[in-house]
Amino acid sequence: MHLALVGCGQLSRMLALAGKPMGFKFSFVADPAEDIRCVEGMGAVVRWQPGDSVAELYKALGQPDRVTVEKEQVDVSLLTGFQEHCQVHPNHKAFAACQHRHREKQLLDKLDIPCASYSYGQPADTHLSLPVVVKSCREGYDGKNQWILKNQHDVDAFSDKAEEENYIVEQLIPFEKEVSQVSVRGANGEVRHYPLTENTHEKGILRQSIAPAMAVSDELQSRAQDYIKRIMDELDYVGVIAMECFLVKDQLLVNELAPRVHNSGHWTQSGSVTCQFENHMRAVSGLPLGSTEIFSVTGMVNLIGTEKAPLDSLTAQSQLHWYDKEVRVGRKLGHINIVGEDHQTVLEQMRSLHGLSRLA
Ligand code: ATP
Ligand code: MG
Repeated sequence: MHLALVGCGQLSRMLALAGKPMGFKFSFVADPAEDIRCVEGMGAVVRWQPGDSVAELYKALGQPDRVTVEKEQVDVSLLTGFQEHCQVHPNHKAFAACQHRHREKQLLDKLDIPCASYSYGQPADTHLSLPVVVKSCREGYDGKNQWILKNQHDVDAFSDKAEEENYIVEQLIPFEKEVSQVSVRGANGEVRHYPLTENTHEKGILRQSIAPAMAVSDELQSRAQDYIKRIMDELDYVGVIAMECFLVKDQLLVNELAPRVHNSGHWTQSGSVTCQFENHMRAVSGLPLGSTEIFSVTGMVNLIGTEKAPLDSLTAQSQLHWYDKEVRVGRKLGHINIVGEDHQTVLEQMRSLHGLSRLA
């Protein structure tokens, strides 16, 4: 099986690392200026930009059997172009819906899945009461392109510099915790779910995750599974998907969807029978999905801005994944997974790793 991956970041790297033992072959599509260090030596890398021929690209990649994608902001015409030659999973419909915040909200509304109250337009025109979070419809990641407006002064200041485009304006949610549901759907509609994962963000960046999420009822877990299944069925989705949510009292509000393997699912590399990367490849290749059963409590701490692979910090319970990226403050450069018998033990070990990061 030859899989072409669109994007050359750490997610493509980890997909390829998980696929090699199954005998998969990989090639990669890079933007003209994209840093390809993460996937160096793992297969052919071909650069492409909108306007270039997709047929030529397909040939240059070595005529892959399937195409999949590691990033949300992929050019949809690239995917429809590839479709002329081979299967593409997840499909272009899923990317079109998830890469634009308004379309994503409309999808949730259509399926009657709750999210934070929102308006679409300029913050000055919103019917929502302050504070609100303003988000660009496109190009948001790690909390970039979003602003919290607490009072009228903030709204006026924002309006002075706002672009002409429309924004999603959301009620600021006083959430108790953030959780995500990572699930996988096969080409035959079979669905498997990892347990809800509890996530902690700092400065908009995911700092750490622990699974299963703490103090979550079975009912809430099934609700999350029901939401994500409805989303996947609606999109005729094949592959791994992540649904980020806010938990407020007994409400589960969907924040956003990621049509790909996700940072909050990295713990599955150490804590589950089949990790998210392998399951994504099984799904897009039409293979039976692997078990999502878990072995233990597992935590994941991102290494953000860390100077070099922190080998000294490894213990018998932890595993390091280093991405070989150019080091920059605030950038995700690797992660450490930690397994343990209970949440307390794992959380303590996770805390001891926080000093390895430089967030800003
Ligand atoms: P990602 O890296 O997950 O793609 P992103 O930049 O697309 O992030 P969001 O996931 O929408 O943006 O927001 C990043 C973080 O900001 C959230 O995980 C949450 O901590 C906070 N946040 C976003 N929207 C809200 C909201 N409406 N109320 C409260 N906090 C919010
Ligand atoms: Mg997010």
